[in-house]
Amino acid sequence: MATTQFEPLPDLAAAEPSLGTLVMKFGGTSVGDPQKLKDVARRLVDARAAGNRVVAVLSAMGDTTDDLVRLAYEVSPLPKPRELDMLISVGERISCALAAMAIHDLGAEAISLTGSQAGIVTDTVHGRAKIVDVRARRIHEALDQDRIVLVAGFQGVSTDFDITTLGRGGSDTTAVALAAALGADACEIYTDVDGVFTADPRLVPGARKLHAVSYEEMLEMAASGAKVLALRSVEFARNHGVKLHVRSTFTGEEGTWITEEDERMLEKAMISGVTHTLEEAVYRVSGTDRADLFDALADASVSVDTIIQTGDDIVFSAPVEDRAATEAALGGLDSNWEERAHLGKVSVIGAGMKSHPGIAARTFQTLRDLGVEPDLVATSPIKIAFYVSQRDVERTVIALHEAFELSSVEAERAHG
Ligand code: ADP
Ligand code: ASP
Ligand code: MG
Repeated sequence: MATTQFEPLPDLAAAEPSLGTLVMKFGGTSVGDPQKLKDVARRLVDARAAGNRVVAVLSAMGDTTDDLVRLAYEVSPLPKPRELDMLISVGERISCALAAMAIHDLGAEAISLTGSQAGIVTDTVHGRAKIVDVRARRIHEALDQDRIVLVAGFQGVSTDFDITTLGRGGSDTTAVALAAALGADACEIYTDVDGVFTADPRLVPGARKLHAVSYEEMLEMAASGAKVLALRSVEFARNHGVKLHVRSTFTGEEGTWITEEDERMLEKAMISGVTHTLEEAVYRVSGTDRADLFDALADASVSVDTIIQTGDDIVFSAPVEDRAATEAALGGLDSNWEERAHLGKVSVIGAGMKSHPGIAARTFQTLRDLGVEPDLVATSPIKIAFYVSQRDVERTVIALHEAFELSSVEAERAHG
């Protein structure tokens, strides 16, 4: 009988597993008290032991950021943005220093870094700075020394050498930017829900966890109220091809992958989710030139969302956090303007919308049955969004979730 001789294989058992970089971000609830911080430390040490180069991005503990903002306004009615950033960037540093201590107690090496020390360089816009560069030399050095690196989220240093913050929820953006700069295998976003759901699970108890969401869908969801990921972090992930995994801090279960669009997402006339916001800033402006208006808003770093022209009036929405900047920009123009109050927004989002007609019909039938009058309606190829009175938001979300059968197992887009 002929036997085939194979070359002897090298003994791989003793070889070091190849080290990939993993960025793990933990949100405020996940590090909400000393025990939770210790649990996170354990998780990081385990990830290191499994053979990863571990970079952790931590948020401020619990409501620390809200408390610091409140404190600022107790001291001053109009705190200077630079000083506000100095103050509110502190919460993330506390979490990182404490986590480093807990990791040392577990017998592993760790180093905590501020955003600035980690090389996160931003523009000079306080309160909502954009990351312009990541100079990751110090992180690489620490990883090479076998340390777990803890980076304070939500902050950086501006090109003018001031401390900046990235906007609420900005630790997500820190994590994704680091994952891109370090060429990480994945960016894991650990949070207080199991993943991205078909609607906010706190409002719709029957909401389903989605297995996969496309970057485009997630962008629309994040822009329209699904605060589980900050909008900028999703933009960054899409532009740099960072694989994002949103998952629970408190279980070992698989969460939601944010990836390129695939067949599963397009197959059915099924939407991925219904999102909402309870407070929208909508402005009606007349008597000004369109280009001048949007120039002034851009100069004030206000990112305008929906724009609608009705006759001579221009109606647009802008983030609530940018209200002061928007009002200042409008005040500087020779125009009449008013803000429309008590509006919320509901959005129906899904890649399947591109190839399946009837989503708009079902949406507006549902509104008619509810007796809800949508105000401004705005669409994209994968979104139908409309403004409604604040008091109608929640029941509209629940009714649309039902109308699109999003509590069914099919809504999950399971693999295989
Ligand atoms: P973290 O502190 O971990 O950054 P956030 O509070 O910023 O967490 O985001 C998680 C929250 O987002 C959840 O507790 C949930 O209530 C809310 N949320 C809103 N819409 C969705 C959705 N579609 N899927 C998952 N969570 C959502
Ligand atoms: N601590 C900041 C906030 O509450 C940043 C974050 O948690 O992502 O917005
Ligand atoms: Mg968040």
